[in-house]
Amino acid sequence: MDLLIRDVMFLDGSFGHVGIAGNRIVHLGPEVPAGDADRIIDGSDRLAMPGLVNAHTHSAMTLFRGYGDDMPLMQWLEERIWPAERKLTDEDVYWGTRLACAEMIRTGTTLFNDMYWKVPSGVRAIGDAGLRATVSAGLISGGFLGDLKGEAVELIAMYEAGDFPDRVRLALSPHAPYTVTPEDLEWCAQLATDHDLPLQIHVSETLREVEECIAEYGLRPAFHIERHGILERPTTIAHGVWLDRDELEMLARHPATVVHNPVSNLKLSCGQGRDVRGWFDYPTAKEVGVNVALATDGTASNTNLDMFEEMKFASLMAKHASGDPMCMPAAETVDIATRGGADGMGWTETGRLEVGALADVILLDMTDVTLTPVHDPNSHAVYAANGHCVHTTICDGKILMEGGTIDGYDEIRARAIEAAKRVTG
Ligand SMILES: [Zn+2]
Repeated sequence: MDLLIRDVMFLDGSFGHVGIAGNRIVHLGPEVPAGDADRIIDGSDRLAMPGLVNAHTHSAMTLFRGYGDDMPLMQWLEERIWPAERKLTDEDVYWGTRLACAEMIRTGTTLFNDMYWKVPSGVRAIGDAGLRATVSAGLISGGFLGDLKGEAVELIAMYEAGDFPDRVRLALSPHAPYTVTPEDLEWCAQLATDHDLPLQIHVSETLREVEECIAEYGLRPAFHIERHGILERPTTIAHGVWLDRDELEMLARHPATVVHNPVSNLKLSCGQGRDVRGWFDYPTAKEVGVNVALATDGTASNTNLDMFEEMKFASLMAKHASGDPMCMPAAETVDIATRGGADGMGWTETGRLEVGALADVILLDMTDVTLTPVHDPNSHAVYAANGHCVHTTICDGKILMEGGTIDGYDEIRARAIEAAKRVTG
């Protein structure tokens, strides 16, 4: 055994030990495992839980953290984000992604679903950081940002040639029904089928895009992408603020996952209609049995990558919108933020603490004043903790952080500040 975490608390309130060999969990429970361990971690005053799963983000946008908040979406894109993104180099994306990885390691996320440009730089950064991810380039019809289709085909060739680390997989991401033509949606669906890849897409983030989709194609957005083949492959659907019951029922019949981004949706006021307020309809999604995951979206619209904060917002938003304080209880919220995301992304060997699962484990510091005393660990994880309560982050069997220290952070910080200054200057 490479690593043994002794006398640790679990989410159900029980205590036991976690044994790790290579990148797998090989022991879990109250008995002390036989044999020696190369490294022993004292787990007393720690809570062990699966690493959190951020199922939709644009990681290198950490460079734009806080750059143009409190603005209308189109003005923010046209005046701030797009001009800055045009200046991004491969090195900028590398350091922006390293900064995102450092923040995720600090706050207990071990798997994320990325959609951004210059993917090979992102892959190199994730490889160096030690995290697990599915990466994809955001495809937009009409040649915005060069030949994106050509880049997607090149990426697939790189991936199939074995040029990605084992911890990193590839997906295809048609950006959204309003930025990708029906022909290009079909092109993506076919390519995903041919190469056995999952898909990621933004759907029903705002009421305007729903109304425009109905006006142009005569269908609500989820039915529109279904018609063009997107849902044949495992697909993560980011946002889903305006999905109705019929759409959720249809999605439940496909290998689809709705990825809820409560903080981003609140910040950009995505649920605000003319005389109606939309919200991701969690009770109906649960009732019809569609898989649900949780995410931060990019830091430009959040403004951090803290999945603990996201869990609290998700649960509170569900309670507030449904008028039911029992809606999305704590244990269910933790499940959505771990297993829900991992299953939705096809990483079914992580997102859970089980013998045989990948060793993606985080330890919370239960001596933190925020977590004292403890009656229900699930409740603390959702309502009391924040990402800085994470003491230890382990991904793929490797300790990436202990006591809040991340290797190489000083250089990551300096290089990210330099890159941010240049592209926004
Ligand atoms: Zn997004």
